[in-house]
Amino acid sequence: MRVYDTIRDMRAACRDAQRDGTRLGFVATMGALHEGHLSLVRAAKATCDVVAASIFVNPAQFGPSEDLTKYPRTFDRDRQLLEREGVELLIAPSVEEMYPTGTVTWVDVEGLSDKLDGRSRPGHFRGVATVVAKLFHAVEPDAAFFGQKDAAQLAIIRRMVRDLNFPVEIVACPIVREADGLAMSSRNAYLDPQQRRQALVLYRSLLRVRKLWEGGESSAAKLVAAGCEEVAGEKSVRLDYFEIVDADSLDPVETVRQGALVPVAAVVGTTRLIDNIQL
Ligand code: AMP
Repeated sequence: MRVYDTIRDMRAACRDAQRDGTRLGFVATMGALHEGHLSLVRAAKATCDVVAASIFVNPAQFGPSEDLTKYPRTFDRDRQLLEREGVELLIAPSVEEMYPTGTVTWVDVEGLSDKLDGRSRPGHFRGVATVVAKLFHAVEPDAAFFGQKDAAQLAIIRRMVRDLNFPVEIVACPIVREADGLAMSSRNAYLDPQQRRQALVLYRSLLRVRKLWEGGESSAAKLVAAGCEEVAGEKSVRLDYFEIVDADSLDPVETVRQGALVPVAAVVGTTRLIDNIQL
């Protein structure tokens, strides 16, 4: 695996790798890798000839009171894991490389970026869309692999790719969970054993909604109420949102049909966690 810290070198290496019609896959990460990230790499390996990845903790997607400075950074381990999975090209740029002094240009996916996490994390999705656009320019992948775990992010990236004509196929990969159902996340490392148990309420609430829906309930209001009630049962968990939305527009639906997205976000201790299911 070749590791680069500049966009210029990464782009040259990726262009070189893509000669003769090679299909280049790309996985963007903030590091602190777990099986969720590695599942994206494996999906990329399965359908692409060469796989590129990035490790960059993107300051632009963290709010002023969020966990940017304490976000777990485990570069040496991450690098080994990616190498073991067969990633050929890695970019791990500095903040200055990605956002040189004087940077004033941002990608704002209007109408989507203020929904769900964007409502409680103003500017978050602007930071995400901007960094993904920049990484797409650095790598110029044929296909990019994103986790369904961050469903709103996925909808926003799909829209950005469509609106700005990026020649890249966006591939969604299923959520990887711990054996007890907790969605894998780099932020799970913040949870103490008690909070780790309490965090299971997120997935439990989603399963309750799925069961009711499969039993014939199609009123979003009733399904959301059931989900909220489940979360409320775990007293120390503070719900941020529980919604049922259209997976593309992220607009709430009234009648729940197949394909609807059920996203939940809640704070456990001081850790904000998200999860979702698609019905
Ligand atoms: P992050 O490092 O949190 O920015 O995530 C990088 C990529 O990994 C994103 O596309 C995430 O959606 C994806 N990802 C994170 N956790 C999981 C998971 N548990 N299952 C599947 N994909 C995931």
